[in-house]
Amino acid sequence: MRCPGCDRALKGQKTTLEQPYQYVESGLDNVFLVGVTLYACQCGEELVEIPKAEQLDDVIAKVLIQKSAPLTGVEVRFLRKYAELSAKDFAKILGVSPEHLSRVENRKAQRTGAMYVLGAAADKLTRVIAHKASQDESIKEILLTLAKTSEKKASRKKARLLFEKRPRSSRWKSAA
Ligand SMILES: [Zn+2]
Repeated sequence: MRCPGCDRALKGQKTTLEQPYQYVESGLDNVFLVGVTLYACQCGEELVEIPKAEQLDDVIAKVLIQKSAPLTGVEVRFLRKYAELSAKDFAKILGVSPEHLSRVENRKAQRTGAMYVLGAAADKLTRVIAHKASQDESIKEILLTLAKTSEKKASRKKARLLFEKRPRSSRWKSAA
């Protein structure tokens, strides 16, 4: 490997527990990697090889989804991107304004000094969406459709839910 800055030949070194690589590319501020190859040049240029980055994202997402403390702003942003949702769609799903989501993700402080955060319900919903998105896409579609319909006024009539079991079928089906 040659340095893209000064064309010196570079020797790679695996990062260790003592000197891990800070994975800033993830957008997170506290993720460090052991066992990736780091190419550091005298000119200051630094290159890193991260194999299987997608699977790494899966593992990071899993840890964030299960952490007990509330999600930080950058963690919310990581999980939103992991679920491949735009900030606009994600805000709609959570039922918050895009401005509020932006303040949360960018860790803006309120005038009191307190950080903007998602509420407990939105925090949990973020985890569910990220978890489901890693398995299938349907939850995203459902939530996006919900976000669209909730913009309309709720009807005061009680909607009838209809389920049908056809004579020759062994299963119940929702009859729309
Ligand atoms: Zn260089």
